[in-house]
Amino acid sequence: MEKIKGRFAPSPSGRMHLGNAFCALLAWLACRSAGGTMTLRVEDLDPERCRPTYAWRLMEDLEWMGLDWDQGPRPGQPPDRYWQSQRGEIYGRALEKLREQGLLYPCFCTRAELHAAQAPHAADGLFVYDGRCRSLSPERRRELAQKRKPAVRLQVPAERIEFFDGCQGLCGQDLQTECGDFILRRSDGAWAYQLAVVCDDGAMGVNQVVRGRDLLSSTPRQLLLYRLIGLKPPQFYHIPLLLSAEGRRLSKRDGDLDLGALREKRTAEELTGYLAWLAGLLERPEPASPGQLLPLFDWGKIPRQDIRLPKGLFAEK
Ligand code: GLU
Repeated sequence: MEKIKGRFAPSPSGRMHLGNAFCALLAWLACRSAGGTMTLRVEDLDPERCRPTYAWRLMEDLEWMGLDWDQGPRPGQPPDRYWQSQRGEIYGRALEKLREQGLLYPCFCTRAELHAAQAPHAADGLFVYDGRCRSLSPERRRELAQKRKPAVRLQVPAERIEFFDGCQGLCGQDLQTECGDFILRRSDGAWAYQLAVVCDDGAMGVNQVVRGRDLLSSTPRQLLLYRLIGLKPPQFYHIPLLLSAEGRRLSKRDGDLDLGALREKRTAEELTGYLAWLAGLLERPEPASPGQLLPLFDWGKIPRQDIRLPKGLFAEK
């Protein structure tokens, strides 16, 4: 059987929160329990939101939790090939490959392209582009190009993409009606998450992707890109999200649940055991190290539905 290659792919746009830690723990357990190797990649495509200091802090938080990786950056080291900001050439080559297939067109619309560099977490709302720039005449394109630099969009085929998710089961999406033509490069030159993540997981030989359920709707787009670029897709596992006691998705804005605040109140084993209990791997939220959880890890125990945090559990002490 093929050796498992897993990865963590955090975006350094703030301090890691409980939900990111949950995802990192499950990605590590899935990979290590299968004897796999782990890669860490810094997804710093968005220059406005990402900072190296956040990335280093993230690495320290992972190390504090006892989650290690075999390939990737180290805290304090300058950005290298494991940082997406350094990988533009690879994305450029993939873009050319798609251009040769006649699948790209310039898009002069201003709406909806702004966030292309960020992973589009589902709560941000899905937007189906109507393809209005696809049929512009060459003259009109030249005219518009004088006023504005265009983004680059990929034309999607009339096709339903189906795949088997290791956590969510059979999933699928009609590309034209549920997704629409999507951006690969923003007008300011920033590379889109969808293209970068495929190029990187492909180039790094990743064959196991464990990430939040909010990225499930991005997966058909990514599967299309794997096929068009000629890369082998990984096995995907989209895990439930952690929700606040009120049912809201956790975000980096929930300061009380970020690793800075949690590390002041809890030991790494307390946090890990708590997350493992939420994941259905422990019967009680008792302290545990990642290594102790390895023999308990089983996809059959991981819930599919989002998990609401009990009220106040981590708030006091
Ligand atoms: N960098 C993305 C994020 O932090 C995750 C991308 C992925 O796992 O595919 O949301």
